[in-house]
Amino acid sequence: MKIGVISGDGIGPEVVREAKKVLDASASKNGYSIDYTEILMGGCSIDRYGVPLTDEAINAAKASDAVLMGSIGGNTSTSPWYKLPPDKRPEAGLLGIRKALNLFANLRPSVLYDELKSACPLSEKTAQKGFDLIIVRELTGGLYFGTRYTEEKDGVTTAVDTLTYSEEEIRRCAVKAFEIASKRRKKVTSVDKANVLDSSRLWRKVTEEVARDYPDVKLSHMLVDNAAMQLVKDPSQFDVVFTENMFGDILSDEAAEITGSIGMLSSASLNETKFGLYEPSGGSAPDIAGQNIANPIATILSAAMMLRFSFDRDREASDIENAVKMVLKEGYRTTDIMSEGMKRVNTDEMGTLIAERL
Ligand code: NAD
Repeated sequence: MKIGVISGDGIGPEVVREAKKVLDASASKNGYSIDYTEILMGGCSIDRYGVPLTDEAINAAKASDAVLMGSIGGNTSTSPWYKLPPDKRPEAGLLGIRKALNLFANLRPSVLYDELKSACPLSEKTAQKGFDLIIVRELTGGLYFGTRYTEEKDGVTTAVDTLTYSEEEIRRCAVKAFEIASKRRKKVTSVDKANVLDSSRLWRKVTEEVARDYPDVKLSHMLVDNAAMQLVKDPSQFDVVFTENMFGDILSDEAAEITGSIGMLSSASLNETKFGLYEPSGGSAPDIAGQNIANPIATILSAAMMLRFSFDRDREASDIENAVKMVLKEGYRTTDIMSEGMKRVNTDEMGTLIAERL
């Protein structure tokens, strides 16, 4: 496996180190080998090259089978990186690499672990049911990429954003959603605003066409306002939630929040090939960087997603997920998920415990 590694800034290098520890344990147990290539992106690339993403970095990512990433960026009020123009700031590197690699499908799992139910901000009754869903968000189309401008007409300032989707953009992402659902509980909820938007009506039509190729997966449609309510009312009803860029942006943060633990949530961004960029859902957490207290589990679970989606190693991915559950069951917690009576461990101890359980 040729894996590009973007450790990045803040807690990035700390959590990536633990994910590599777990991957190496999986590799030696299962008899495969990994060749890592370090890639600079974000603030560390600005410090070295003056830009957040170089052509060399893009080429190194393209030459890899998959990329494992920590996170990029610094303290947005105090870091000198944020005095730079927007296209030179750390986050421009992330947008640049997504574009260069054509990463159009963003996967954000949202899982409530039995052991962490007390962190769930929903009602006890809802939390007791638990949930395990994944949001598949279209990442390179829609409102964020359409034509936008602000103009003055007859003395009135007007701002315009355009929401555009082509059949092909919807279809390729729908295929990903159905493929993923067919490996899970075989349910896709497509979320749109088809009672108002043309783009949503096309979204529904194309999604229904794709569904015909997956007869064992059940498709239903839900309006986005209802989906926002249902996520807090009964998230256990969802398996795969498939939606467009802006709806997915908002719903995936809502879905993250209801788990109560950002340090546990993985994510993946995929293109048409098996290639993917895998990273924790949280950012570089400058407030706790360098203290060896960050939770590495989100990055470790992102590495598990990488084994599943880029390398078709389902069993090895499940082994890592089970090792995480085991360590939680044994009562080990990093500071962010600590509760009374549990055993507090730091970042590298958590990584070692998970690697050992493999
Ligand atoms: P953040 O996710 O970095 O931090 C929010 C809170 O969550 C902080 O209190 C932090 O300590 C905590 N947290 C996050 N991950 C954690 C972990 N693994 N373990 C324990 N606690 C964790 O969000 P922010 O403060 O809004 O952003 C900080 C920087 O990260 C900014 O520069 C932002 O642009 C960047 N960012 C990067 C990415 C990315 O690389 N994909 C994503 C989001 C934000």
